Amino acid sequence: MDQLSLDQFQDRFYSEDVCVDYLFQAKWPNGFICPKCSHRHFYKVTTRRLPLYECAQCHHQTSIIVDTIMEGSRTTLQKWFTAIFLASHPSINAIELKDIINVTYKTAWLVLHKIRCAMSTSDSSNLLSGMVQVHDACYGRPYNPYSQPHPEEHYLLVGTSLNEQKEPTYIKMKLLMEAPRVKWISTAEKMSFAERHIEAEGSNIEFMTERLKPRRLKFGYPYFKKASQWINESFHGIGVRHLRAYLDEFCYRVNQKLNQTPVFQSLIQSCTSTKKISYKSLKEKGKRVRYAHMIGLYW
Ligand SMILES: [Zn+2]
Repeated sequence: MDQLSLDQFQDRFYSEDVCVDYLFQAKWPNGFICPKCSHRHFYKVTTRRLPLYECAQCHHQTSIIVDTIMEGSRTTLQKWFTAIFLASHPSINAIELKDIINVTYKTAWLVLHKIRCAMSTSDSSNLLSGMVQVHDACYGRPYNPYSQPHPEEHYLLVGTSLNEQKEPTYIKMKLLMEAPRVKWISTAEKMSFAERHIEAEGSNIEFMTERLKPRRLKFGYPYFKKASQWINESFHGIGVRHLRAYLDEFCYRVNQKLNQTPVFQSLIQSCTSTKKISYKSLKEKGKRVRYAHMIGLYW
């Protein structure tokens, strides 16, 4: 699916029914399961825009978009599918998407951010493991270890799982929980990153700092550089309120490719397994890009 052009993709998903069948498979790959009683048989009710599936045992009714990012949305499945297809490739923003799927800017923005939320949720269930290298990086301005931190500088940690050949197998880029007062990453931040993003058992973690190791030895650095370029080119002028989500989006696509997983199929899976999120809480998420986080442990 990833190789198709947009026209070819839209030919493949030419009607709502085709999208319904595809989502049914993604949501219930082994056949229908009632979310209330786990019964396997259902009656299909087709009087609504999307079919309802009524459990033959407890008569609970559900639909394919319940408990997904699409729940409650009036946007058609064909439009959602097109948005998910475009988000599985780099370089789509809400201004471009609104014209392609013919919706308002607010709807296009919301659809894209819900898809990004599904990517972040999926990423949070995968931890870095094995040989893990973590280094600091600075988004927004060229790194200068001798100047004071600047408001346009956004510090992050880049974690990379490596195989025995020292090839990256999984990448995470996470903004610091708190803006640094000095030009190096505190022990508490490193500890927090390790606790949240690296498997506790059996991982061999190497922390590297900007000043002590050349960039060629930091295997995540080329990916960070590409992520910065992509964010600058795709979201110029929009600011960094949602930087955390953009970094997760970039890493999501990279990680699917590193694991040779088709991006569209896996993104549809992520979207069907992530619960809906409201416009208000997406706005709130943007505001909390940096919130204070107290940690009582030291490295
Ligand atoms: Zn049931």
